[in-house]
Amino acid sequence: MDPMTCPVHIRPEVLAVPAYTQGGAPVKEGYKLSSNENPFPPLPAVQRAVAEAPINRYAVAAMPELRAQIGALFGFNQELSQSHVHIAAGSVSILYQLVEATVGEGDNYVYPWPSFEAYPMLAIGGGGEGRRVRGNDDGTHNLDAMLEAIDSRTRVVILCTPNNPTGPTITKEQFANFMERVPQEVLVVLDEAYRELVTDTNAIHGEEVLDKHSNLVVLRTFSKAYGLAGLRIGYGVGHPSIWQACRVTGIPLSVTTQAEMAARVSLETEAQEELQANIQELVHRRERLIAGLREQGYTVPDSQANYVWLPLGEAAQSLAVAFAQEGTLVRCFQGEGVRISVGEEDSIDEVLRITAAYREDAAL
Ligand SMILES: *Cc1c(COP(=O)(O)O)cnc(C)c1O
Repeated sequence: MDPMTCPVHIRPEVLAVPAYTQGGAPVKEGYKLSSNENPFPPLPAVQRAVAEAPINRYAVAAMPELRAQIGALFGFNQELSQSHVHIAAGSVSILYQLVEATVGEGDNYVYPWPSFEAYPMLAIGGGGEGRRVRGNDDGTHNLDAMLEAIDSRTRVVILCTPNNPTGPTITKEQFANFMERVPQEVLVVLDEAYRELVTDTNAIHGEEVLDKHSNLVVLRTFSKAYGLAGLRIGYGVGHPSIWQACRVTGIPLSVTTQAEMAARVSLETEAQEELQANIQELVHRRERLIAGLREQGYTVPDSQANYVWLPLGEAAQSLAVAFAQEGTLVRCFQGEGVRISVGEEDSIDEVLRITAAYREDAAL
């Protein structure tokens, strides 16, 4: 039987979309700088917690201790934390839960582009339409154009700060302005997957504005700054009734006890000291990488996350190939640019070596 011909009916709208492709594994001695992962090994305390978690039982889905720890980051007391915090197997899961709960047949949601590669696929299951809005040349969202894209059938607007893959944040002022103009019945999702790496004091932080807007939810993850990508755990904070809906659309019992325990330990004071030191080191490497690339003559938007963006347009592919030839993997957005994660200390020098050689060869 022809393996390319599907033996059962697949919806045409599903066939029309390419599946998510993961950043691949590096060859030779290179670095994997294609998925914004954390290069530091897990803390011993986290590893112990994972090893000791019982795996013959289902997790206790409510996870009251973890919800209280997360709620405290947003200024909620124990009781409010239980209703305002939602935990799932990665914040990507929460994006799907939210869109499935809100965007029906004939509805739409608005998202920025270039941005997180999961955004375009969110409504395939529900038959809604994703509307992408091109960002500005400096890598920021075009918030005016996003507002203009909203119509009476728009249910969700996604904002990504810092934006993956370009790097810049939304400022407090831009955000306030946006929220003033967005219709109040439209859900605004503030995706802050890289919140812990943000150092710019002008940047919007979800915890500072959540109490002002009942149509706002903030998404965070343990995958990036906290280095738990492989365990799959993220969270959302916002109005309790929104999470009620997400418990209907979500797949039950997807978060494992291992992930829960690793997250709990990560938020404890002792681990926080080590994690914050690692984060500072990553910020340091980020600044070194940006400065080095700019010195070589590249245009690099300000990044507040653990990656940098080279908006090379049609040349993106050839730079990604140059990296692959050296065994280091970066993420290529065809015709747009190349995203390079901030990895191991030595990876910074390796990146700068490859980009310098590429610039000479390509006579950019
Ligand atoms: C990595 C990332 C996520 C989510 O990660 P999970 O591992 O699913 O928690 C969400 N949004 C953006 C913008 C990301 O880059």
